[in-house]
Order: sequence, then structure tokens, then C-alpha cells
Amino acid sequence: MSGCIFCKIRDGEIPSNRVYEDDKVLAFKDINPVAPFHVLIIPKVHIESVNELNESNVNTVADIHLAAKKIAEENGLKDKGYRLINNCGSEAGQTVMHIHYHMIGGKNLGTAII
Ligand code: 5GP
Ligand code: ZN
Repeated sequence: MSGCIFCKIRDGEIPSNRVYEDDKVLAFKDINPVAPFHVLIIPKVHIESVNELNESNVNTVADIHLAAKKIAEENGLKDKGYRLINNCGSEAGQTVMHIHYHMIGGKNLGTAII
């Protein structure tokens, strides 16, 4: 998708600090971290948001979760815990319209959802 920041990161047109990659998923450090560990996990295929998921592309969400599990193992978060967050649409604060999950950890995040 031309003009999409995360597609440009996927294609190497915008530099990023990659922490995980396989044939379907890419994860890289958030440019504006809110916790000691903050990466964004994206599918390589361009899907705007949860609203655009359907029967044929919903497997990307499973791929993201399997990637999160591996990233947690590789970064010492598996037993400590971490949070996966998806923002969908304007009232949720989604600013990049390429579906992504924030993976946040490295400190006690508390119990509040917002
Ligand atoms: P959203 O608010 O859409 O859920 O989250 C978008 C995230 O993308 C934000 O946390 C923001 O810091 C991050 N972000 C925006 N542009 C870039 C970029 O060019 N590189 C990286 N690594 N992160 C970005
Ligand atoms: Zn994209």
C-alpha cells in the first residue's frame, strides 16, 4: 500500500529497529516507547485494521500472537508478563492504518486497561 508507513518499514524504505521477522510477520521497536520494552508487531500484508479482517485474512492475527510468544521468549518476558494492545479506529487512537499490535513490557504495567 503506497504511502503506508508500516509498508515502507516492511520494505526497508524507512529504517527500523527490527526484533523479529518471519515470512508473514515483522516486529520492530516503537519510535516513541511507553515502556522499557515496546515493539510493534505487524503482518507483512497490508490490512488497515481489525475492521478489515475476514475469513481469508484472519490467520494474520494468529501469526501475530505466535510471533509475540517467540519475542517474549527471546527477550525474557515470557514469565514476567507483557501486554498486547490493538487500537482500532480514531476513538481508540489508531494513527497508523496498517493493523498492528503493541507489545509492551519490561516493567509492572498494573491492572488498569486504560
Ligand atoms: P497506534 O496509535 O496507531 O496504535 O500506534 C502507532 C504507533 O506507531 C505509535 O506508538 C508510534 O510511536 C509508532 N510509529 C509511528 N511512526 C513510526 C515510525 O516511523 N517508526 C516506528 N518504529 N514507529 C512509529
Ligand atoms: Zn501498510
